[in-house]
Amino acid sequence: MPRTAVVFDLFNTLVPGADKARDRGIEEMAEVVGVDPAAFVRAFHESWPDRLVRWDPAETVRILAARLGAHPSDAAVAEAVRIRCELGARLLADVKPSTLHTLDALRASGFRLAVLSNTTAETTDLWPATALAERFDAAVFSPEVGVAKPDPRIYEAAADRLGVRTRDCWFVGDGADGELAGAAAVGMAVIRTTEFQDTDPTWPGERIAELAELATGLYRNS
Ligand SMILES: [Mg+2]
Repeated sequence: MPRTAVVFDLFNTLVPGADKARDRGIEEMAEVVGVDPAAFVRAFHESWPDRLVRWDPAETVRILAARLGAHPSDAAVAEAVRIRCELGARLLADVKPSTLHTLDALRASGFRLAVLSNTTAETTDLWPATALAERFDAAVFSPEVGVAKPDPRIYEAAADRLGVRTRDCWFVGDGADGELAGAAAVGMAVIRTTEFQDTDPTWPGERIAELAELATGLYRNS
């Protein structure tokens, strides 16, 4: 049976991961809440597992500031969250026209599309206003599911929301967080992308250098 759906990772797959811009944003937030910028960046990185599935942006700011000995006012927390959300919106808008065309072509040929992202809570709120959102039949973000890739349950949630089985899906991602092995473990056919970053160079399977290659490749393989 041909595969009928494509599940996409988000950062470093559909849009750049923008790690440096993120760190600069966290440093700016640190100034607002009155903590050492480098220590705040470290605290953000170390709390990735909690931020993925648990904390909202305001909790994140409060908890991490408290770990560094600061107790910012509600106004300072709100300003830090504003900085975070503004950056998030900018990152989600940074999508190439060729990516949008590819998604449109896949959908026009009958594929159902989902985005499946290990991300933090603000992405869920920002997503609907993006140019990407209308291209997808389903969006699954780790904070609202309560688990993250490579947990099989999050891949199953994506397939469920598309109305297909995991073995009906392609999975396309850069490979962060062990997501490629996780997708393969639930029966998805995996394509690794190196368009933005060579995240998982030892992955032995199929690889594309840019998303636009899917427009012809999946028709051929499905
Ligand atoms: Mg990624």
